[in-house]
Amino acid sequence: MSFVEHFGALPRDKLALEIYSTTAAEVERALQRPAGCLTALRALLSPAAAPYIEQMAQQSLALTRQRFGANVGLYLPLYLSNLCANECDYCGFSMSNKLKRKTLDDMELAAEMDIIKARGFDSILLVSGEHETKVGIDYFKSVLPQVKRRFSQVALEVQPLGEAEYAQLVALGLDAVMVYQETYRPSTYAQHHTRGKKRDFGFRLDTPDRAARAGVDKIGLGVLLGLDDWRLDALLMGHHLSYLEQRYWRSRYSISLPRLRPCTGGIAPKVVLSDLGLVQLICAFRLFNPQLDISLSTRETPALRDNLMPLGITQMSAGSSTQPGGYQHPDSQLDQFEISDERSVDEVAARLRQKGLNPVWKDWEQAWTAMSRD
Ligand code: SF4
Repeated sequence: MSFVEHFGALPRDKLALEIYSTTAAEVERALQRPAGCLTALRALLSPAAAPYIEQMAQQSLALTRQRFGANVGLYLPLYLSNLCANECDYCGFSMSNKLKRKTLDDMELAAEMDIIKARGFDSILLVSGEHETKVGIDYFKSVLPQVKRRFSQVALEVQPLGEAEYAQLVALGLDAVMVYQETYRPSTYAQHHTRGKKRDFGFRLDTPDRAARAGVDKIGLGVLLGLDDWRLDALLMGHHLSYLEQRYWRSRYSISLPRLRPCTGGIAPKVVLSDLGLVQLICAFRLFNPQLDISLSTRETPALRDNLMPLGITQMSAGSSTQPGGYQHPDSQLDQFEISDERSVDEVAARLRQKGLNPVWKDWEQAWTAMSRD
């Protein structure tokens, strides 16, 4: 059974009703034993949990320190291409948007990597629009070895691939795959994805299954908060995570919680998630899954990122560009979305240290292996 079949059997309307009829007593029960319990996750995501956010934050902070110490991993996205054959009404890379399109060649890729390396990063996220004919498996196969020679950890956020394709990339050193479902409500998904292969909700939904079967070490899930009811979307992502962990226990998992941001030709959020709601969401997932990596991007403001740093976040980007060639040419107008936190990586690292946290640039295993060799 793949997640598509599992998802089809979930009582989604009933789950939505339950979220909004949760009682304070249920939230208090959830706070006693939240780990691994989807009923507890539902309660912690509910409106009834709002008065308990302070308690959730304290528990979340303690669990995060217990599991991850004071460490927060820093990574940077490297945009390979903004070509895209899809139309997503919230994204600046949509095919009908009139912007200059670009795919990095080997020299441009090397120049971007030089800059990222010089800033101290050892963990990189390769991003592209979804254009399988021009930026497909052959391009990824040529890029990956070049990147892997320079970075310990390489993650990919591109179009969903087939299992055999993921296996080829794993053999070339791919460590992680990020594939965000955007929303778990099929009708809302259809409304926002109007052209291209991304319209296939089920193919996207089954992507983590294919990546896990191909041996990808870490798989990232995410929803674009603002497209639909964030509480239900988050709960269904929790079901997805739980399904994957039970079946593919060799892989590790992360989640990303981006809020809808303005972009060229983009839309306003249908449902606004407040800052406090974002805190609730992060803490709910930390209590539900103490070993989960939770990632926070530069979409959020510096003040909010500073406040969220200790609460459950384990991965942050800093000094990001969201355009191909953007580290070399920061003024070109090819962005996927607007960035809120424009601080340099040194400023973000300094802020982490001020908070008693430890910015981590190197992959654990590589660092450990190197130490063992010394
Ligand atoms: S969200 Fe992804 S698939 Fe959709 S337009 Fe943007 S880059 Fe293309």
